Amino acid sequence: MNAHDSEKVIGTLVSKGYTQVDTPEAAELVLYNTCSIRDKAEQKVFHRLQQFKREAGKGKVFGVLGCVAQQEGEKIFEKAPHVSLVAGSASYTKLPEMLVQLEAGGRRVTGLSLDTDETFETPFTRRDNPHRAYITIIEGCDKSCAYCVVPFTRGPERSRTSASAMDEARRLAEEGYTEIQLLGQNVNSYRDPSPPGWDFATLLTRIGEIPGIRRVRFTTSHPRDFVKAIVEAIDENPALCNHVHLPVQSGSNRVLAAMDRLYTRDEYMRRISWLKSARRNIAITTDIIVGFPGETEADFNETLALLDEVQYDSLFSFKYSPRPNTAALAMGDKIPEEEKTRRLTMVQERQRAIQLRRNSEAVGTVQEVLVEGRNQSLGQWIGRTSQNRTLNFSHAGGNDERLLGQYLDVRVTRAGPNSLVGESVM
Ligand code: SF4
Repeated sequence: MNAHDSEKVIGTLVSKGYTQVDTPEAAELVLYNTCSIRDKAEQKVFHRLQQFKREAGKGKVFGVLGCVAQQEGEKIFEKAPHVSLVAGSASYTKLPEMLVQLEAGGRRVTGLSLDTDETFETPFTRRDNPHRAYITIIEGCDKSCAYCVVPFTRGPERSRTSASAMDEARRLAEEGYTEIQLLGQNVNSYRDPSPPGWDFATLLTRIGEIPGIRRVRFTTSHPRDFVKAIVEAIDENPALCNHVHLPVQSGSNRVLAAMDRLYTRDEYMRRISWLKSARRNIAITTDIIVGFPGETEADFNETLALLDEVQYDSLFSFKYSPRPNTAALAMGDKIPEEEKTRRLTMVQERQRAIQLRRNSEAVGTVQEVLVEGRNQSLGQWIGRTSQNRTLNFSHAGGNDERLLGQYLDVRVTRAGPNSLVGESVM
């Protein structure tokens, strides 16, 4: 979402006459878009701001955008006095006005209000990937997971109208994009605010029916709002990718309750059973947090058992880190760092073996890939399957750059834990 926010900010400013340059050194205005989901990311922001400081004397204007901006607010001016603009994502529509204030001699401007029912829509998005485009369909989040800063930094849920999302998707198809990724903190709770009143499954289906759109992905899903109609939509429409990212966070009911995730392990597993009984072979991926306050060895073992039970195709795993303005802060950070590291390593090792097994099942099959790049040193093309696996492959046609963005059939010949290898089928 942050990457796409940056695209929208660039598009908005370019439409107002600004020009994007290649390096911060060449810029007169440097905007730093930030993430505060984990402590490490936030520390990086302040480290980078210190580096910027050396440049600040040369007449550049510095701004901090995104979740750290929202979270730290005017404190950023104290920590990094060379910064002139601080704005959270709910204020991006006001960026041009804020910059006008700075150009008129204002020393510091902020955009920190979360009091908006607007979504950040712009017809001027500047997209960096020529084949895949992101479309935000819902912003903010109404859940209150105990560890998460997002409701504080991105505000309450605001869904975009279906007409506006459809118009953007049609325009993208006309411009030649073939893959659309629908974005939101919780796309499953999308609710069209205009009269058609579409739910997420309907919007997904309709976007998948747009001529020229070959693939539709979405991220991210909250299990509580994940309904069977989404699986049925994937089964019905081949343009909807057979991949669902369904973050579980923990396999222990006790920890799930402490996290305020609003589902039990059984309820989560019911959704997994819908996915596994689909007609299409839907890849399932997830997020895991280890070391949440109070997570016992028994709780942790339940997470490992869940990995064995679900057999995820991939996962993102994290050590819990306390974040400001979250409910979990009051629970303390009780698990020692070394123990969190041990648990994280165990999750990753267990998952590595599962992934190797899952990927090996693909050997001998033919998969359609979108060609995304070329690995010159290996002399291979890099493709992505509908299940979101990376498939590196050789192609008898050689080194023709026109292959980029094409869809090709590739026979899988080998599997590793993180990717597949194959040969294109002529
Ligand atoms: S649903 Fe996701 S974004 Fe919303 S509070 Fe929970 S973890 Fe954060």
